[in-house]
Amino acid sequence: MEGTEAVDGEVSRKGWIDFHVHIFRMSGLASPVVRDLIEASNPQMGHGTGAEPPPGVGDEIVPFETMLAQLDAAGVERAVVLAQETPGIGINVPSDYVLEYCTQTDRLVPFVSLNIQTEHDYMGKLLSWAARGARGLKLYPSYQFIYPNDRRFYRCYELAEELGWPVVFHTGSSVFANSRLKYALPIHLDDVAADFPSLPVVLAHCGRPAWTAEATILARTHDKVYLEISGIPPHRLLEYLPDLPRISDKVIFGSDWPSTPAISRTVQGILELGLSPEVLANLFVDTASSLLGEVAAGGSSPLAGQGHSPAARA
Ligand SMILES: [Zn+2]
Repeated sequence: MEGTEAVDGEVSRKGWIDFHVHIFRMSGLASPVVRDLIEASNPQMGHGTGAEPPPGVGDEIVPFETMLAQLDAAGVERAVVLAQETPGIGINVPSDYVLEYCTQTDRLVPFVSLNIQTEHDYMGKLLSWAARGARGLKLYPSYQFIYPNDRRFYRCYELAEELGWPVVFHTGSSVFANSRLKYALPIHLDDVAADFPSLPVVLAHCGRPAWTAEATILARTHDKVYLEISGIPPHRLLEYLPDLPRISDKVIFGSDWPSTPAISRTVQGILELGLSPEVLANLFVDTASSLLGEVAAGGSSPLAGQGHSPAARA
């Protein structure tokens, strides 16, 4: 355990990682749903819900300074920023934009995204993004209307495995009316985990609200399946994941900001659950840094050499 020990009754937040934040541009949002969510959760961001930004406000919905201020206020050191190439539901956050945005600081870790049904040179894209510093892949099966165990994804998974990338999947429900839930059920990832046993498979949202037990079974069955808790209200975390104290080395903190209120509020809500320092260390630091550290096999990560030894899971 590192980083999260009680110091004078306070929990140290050294090395904390938020594994799930977003950036958006007005020009990439054909759907008003995200704008409405951001407006409701973070009214101070002040873009309104109109189709165009107000005069004097740029295209960028999450200015860099705003992102850093969020992390600082929450005591979070680093965040994984997720691209989202899902025009089928009216959202496009290109991988190139995320990579560029994250060059501003080593506190932001870029994860790319693509649609293999429309991107014909997707292997070339993944390799070029890897060369530019991408550290993982986020896939949105329910927004792209394809099962994650579709064999067309398998070359991506092979490459991710070679690169040491975690692959994060949206699982569970969604606020987007035209998403298709059947593609987001955790059970489809059983095939992926079985066929790629050394690929870290991360279930964003843990299959909330109705499939968290299914997600937990996957995490307990497969060594490299992890649960990421973004989108679960903190006060209901133990209701959704009653096994959290026993499998905390498989569970990762994510906030989903700015579609959720301030990261500091989400963190505070989790701290109020009274989890042990060991569970908090797993949740906020150790598991996420080991997933990112695996990328360091190639040598560029500051986390190079930090091994992860999963605690025994009863
Ligand atoms: Zn999200």
